[in-house]
Amino acid sequence: MVEKNPRVRGRFAPTPSGRMHLGNVFSALVAWLSARAAGGTVELRIEDLDPRAQSRERADTLMGDLEWLGLTWDEGPFFQSERAGVYQEALDRLAGAGLTYPCFCSRAELHAATAPHASDGTPVYAGTCRGLSADEVARRSAERPPATRLRVPEADDPAGTVEFRDLAYGPRREVLARECGDFLVRRSDGVVAYQLAVVVDDALMGVTQVVRGRDLLGSCARQIYLGRLLGHPTPQYGHVPLLVAPDGRRLSKRDRDLDLGVLRERGVAPERIVGALAAAAGLVDGSADLTPTELVASFSWERIAAHRDDVVVDEAFLARLG
Ligand code: GLU
Repeated sequence: MVEKNPRVRGRFAPTPSGRMHLGNVFSALVAWLSARAAGGTVELRIEDLDPRAQSRERADTLMGDLEWLGLTWDEGPFFQSERAGVYQEALDRLAGAGLTYPCFCSRAELHAATAPHASDGTPVYAGTCRGLSADEVARRSAERPPATRLRVPEADDPAGTVEFRDLAYGPRREVLARECGDFLVRRSDGVVAYQLAVVVDDALMGVTQVVRGRDLLGSCARQIYLGRLLGHPTPQYGHVPLLVAPDGRRLSKRDRDLDLGVLRERGVAPERIVGALAAAAGLVDGSADLTPTELVASFSWERIAAHRDDVVVDEAFLARLG
């Protein structure tokens, strides 16, 4: 029995834009194990900020899949789509401190420049709209609604360098001006940016551990910086390897044959999926079917860190699923 420690609060923060694939399952499994192994609790937050891409029905399916896998939660679900007020409050605070500005750049303009790109593929913002006069802002706002960007310190200002230690990937250091430049906190269609919503929610929900896929490692510096500006404590970060096809391509929604809809229809048991993922990621030796609860005692971040290369979904892995 793990002793309870209510000070450790982990979370799942899935985006209900389709059925979970094995990569999502793996991230959720490690988030759950990390919190449970420390005696902590898990919150569920549905990241449904974009009404065009996400629906309540998809969220219900996702929750059904988590329960089927045995990945239970203690609090929530909280829906980001119902939290516009708290995000607006944070945006108002940042604006009040003079830290944000309206940006009129179109997608095409942002991507046309030969600007370097951040690790998540977004171009490093060149600062085009940084110094617009009030007149210019008024004139251009009449033509189209602007997005909102957060001003980051110049590259030589130490305030814009973020250092942290990831539980799996170790010490990291990023200079915001080089990594992403002034970044979006609200889109021009009014939808709050993921970076802002995640920071506000993790803080208001008292999350102490953020565990998720390695694809979001590059977002940490932005989130830590935003959290500091808003006066929030920095959570612990732990990123987990991605699942990739044998050719190195990351598994995605296109790999329909590995999503939970198809696996469940095929009759693959949840313990088979959990056992296969745990073995492939080096959490256990051997090939037993397992429940998440059965993995708690042997869970450690050292094991994750020792196998932090991407997990290859190869023939042997697929054969295990049956
Ligand atoms: N909503 C994001 C996703 O489903 C995860 C965000 C996070 O864990 O910070 O990929």
